[in-house]
Amino acid sequence: MATRSKYVKPEQRAVISAHVLGTKQISPSFVRVTIGGDDLRGFVPMGFDQWFRMFIPEAGQTSIRLPGSSGSLWFAQFKLIPKDVRPVLRNYTVREFRATGGVFAGGPELDIDFASHGDLGPASAWANSCAPGDRIGLLDEGLIYNPTPDARWQLLVGDESALPAIVGILRSVDPGVRVRAYVEIPHAGDIPDKQDVPVRDGLDVHWLVREDASARPGELALATLRSAHLSDLPEGPFYAFVAGESELATGVRRHLVNDRHVPKSDIAFTGYWRHGHAAY
Ligand SMILES: Cc1cc2nc3c(=O)[nH]c(=O)nc-3n(C[C@H](O)[C@H](O)[C@H](O)COP(=O)(O)OP(=O)(O)OC[C@H]3O[C@@H](n4cnc5c(N)ncnc54)[C@H](O)[C@@H]3O)c2cc1C
Repeated sequence: MATRSKYVKPEQRAVISAHVLGTKQISPSFVRVTIGGDDLRGFVPMGFDQWFRMFIPEAGQTSIRLPGSSGSLWFAQFKLIPKDVRPVLRNYTVREFRATGGVFAGGPELDIDFASHGDLGPASAWANSCAPGDRIGLLDEGLIYNPTPDARWQLLVGDESALPAIVGILRSVDPGVRVRAYVEIPHAGDIPDKQDVPVRDGLDVHWLVREDASARPGELALATLRSAHLSDLPEGPFYAFVAGESELATGVRRHLVNDRHVPKSDIAFTGYWRHGHAAY
């Protein structure tokens, strides 16, 4: 898990009830679900990798029971909801928030980009099949990304599940900051267009296309980083943000600490998902 973070304090947030406004297949591997609703007026966008707990109906459920509390006891309360009406709980990233000027209505609207893995998990299956009006719940968690103040540049590494977080960081980071990013994706067609990912001197994004569909996600990004020359980047401390399949996250951290002698405190590493295991 990350070493430093900017979590939203439990007393400063509320469980948000929202509904689907529309969905779009934005690239071969990504489905964008846009949600809206009056509760989102209270949502405070933070940019970067802002993430939230997401509650969606279990297959066959027609309504959704959300935990009543957003405080530190929310999870205990969630577990007390009877199993037959308890929603599915997963974690996702804010891809874009529009307080006004929405695509579907006046706003507010929030986009979530799902890296689709078919019907293998309930969240992926839901994103592929949800329809306008379907209910969803959110609990804001804030940022994991929190660079060390003396970092001379930043390293971002992730697989497709971390693409929304890495693009969010690239869009939010101060213009003077140098960033090297390695993002592994299933298809070349998944690379977001230039208007979405800022292009400027000092932002150096390597899109790594996984040619072999049977390869474990994250292996390519880890191998690429291991052999990468970082000597063209400023000397001195740098901050690393790593997210994706858990072996990618731990493998990158191990490599940075053991082979590149990066202090553990300068690395935020998060296993976003675990190969062969359902979340929760
Ligand atoms: C802070 C945070 C932010 C995240 N943001 C995003 C985001 O914006 N977009 C996004 O797509 N994901 C994101 N994730 C990852 C997402 O929460 C997981 O992929 C989640 O497990 C998907 O739930 P599921 O119900 O589809 O699958 P689960 O029920 O959790 O798993 C079912 C099966 O699917 C496999 N699986 C799970 N995820 C993937 C995957 N990405 N690719 C291939 N196989 C998978 C599991 O190994 C398991 O075998 C984030 C995770 C965290 C912790």
